[in-house]
Amino acid sequence: MEHQSSIPRINPRRPYVIAASGLKRIVLGQETGSRELHHGGHAAAAKPLRSARPATAAILVLLHSERGGLDEHARQTIAAATLLADADTAVVVAVLGGCAEPLGALGADVGVQLPQLGGAGYLVEARLAQALALVEQYRPRHILLPERDADADLGRRLAARSGASIATDVVELTRETACRIVPGARFARCALPRIILLARHAADARLPYVGRGEDAAAPVAEAALERGLRDLGLEGSDPDQVALEEADFILSGGNGMRDMAGFAALAQALGAATGASRVAVDDGRFARARQIGATGKTVQASVYMALGISGAVQHLQGIKDCRHVIAVNLDQSAPIVKRANLTLVEDSGALMQALLQLVRAAQAAKSA
Ligand SMILES: Cc1cc2nc3c(=O)[nH]c(=O)nc-3n(C[C@H](O)[C@H](O)[C@H](O)COP(=O)(O)OP(=O)(O)OC[C@H]3O[C@@H](n4cnc5c(N)ncnc54)[C@H](O)[C@@H]3O)c2cc1C
Repeated sequence: MEHQSSIPRINPRRPYVIAASGLKRIVLGQETGSRELHHGGHAAAAKPLRSARPATAAILVLLHSERGGLDEHARQTIAAATLLADADTAVVVAVLGGCAEPLGALGADVGVQLPQLGGAGYLVEARLAQALALVEQYRPRHILLPERDADADLGRRLAARSGASIATDVVELTRETACRIVPGARFARCALPRIILLARHAADARLPYVGRGEDAAAPVAEAALERGLRDLGLEGSDPDQVALEEADFILSGGNGMRDMAGFAALAQALGAATGASRVAVDDGRFARARQIGATGKTVQASVYMALGISGAVQHLQGIKDCRHVIAVNLDQSAPIVKRANLTLVEDSGALMQALLQLVRAAQAAKSA
């Protein structure tokens, strides 16, 4: 029997905390902006091909998409594979869950979409069978996966089932060696193994080149039986039970957010953890443990929604690693606007009510 939590979590044990000197970083040389790369814009299209030579070997990247997209960790893993690949080696990227993004812009030469293997269901045997089929087809020299959640689990199972060598928590790579974190915050170096589980922030996703981005069909995988297991589905739990540092989606309230009941209802509907500015904590509306910023928590959510928060420098310090910041503020010149990827100039109370209605309508439509 298997229970899974529906709350995506981030491992807060980040390699750069241990190696602030940059020891972990894979150096790329000339780069252009990551945002252009992410959105497949002009600059990405103008980049040269990494290699136009016919491939005689392959490096395989296996990863899960998240809500139909690839997060920074997934992009970093693809980037690391392109850095390991020589001109005769193709980078094959298989996306469990599938994604709509052009994989070539991220460095993939071949993209394999596996939409049927995403989601939160207990599919470990089916995923493993598909991974083994991909390994059989492409015979990759190395297989890279992000060191997190289902990807980390798949990598370990693949190593156990195939007998391949593996290095986990890898923070530094060369074409000959892998360096990994071992307990006690020490580093261990080993010869480059066949399977590499890459730690978050080990590689920079901004690449000076693109891959060929050809689509390929997935090889047929042997139907796998989930032996002795029954999927009981997901069990909902309170997102606020997750440490804020690990939360993937945070709804945060400041001095300009006064509707606490609406805030709680929205957080619950979105499945978001809750955070707050210091002013909102100081006036007693949030517990001290919810404070985000220089004297509170440093968070790294994929989505950080700031309702009525001005974006003082002390607050911004706590959200510097968040991927998408959405600001809701009446003042379009508030400092948070500069940091935000999306700003809604709107009253926080009105926006929460409108968003709550939309989320509930979408949820009702989904379950109908
Ligand atoms: C040593 C030190 C450490 C600090 N540490 C932290 C820290 O860890 N974390 C932290 O957050 N702060 C910290 N602060 C405090 C920080 O400087 C700010 O005072 C604080 O972040 C401001 O909180 P706020 O943005 O919620 O409130 P305000 O500055 O009052 O801003 C409220 C915002 O809401 C907007 N607004 C108002 N009404 C509405 C509405 N109806 N709808 C939408 N928007 C609206 C306003 O335009 C404004 O931008 C620290 C300060 C010091 C000196």
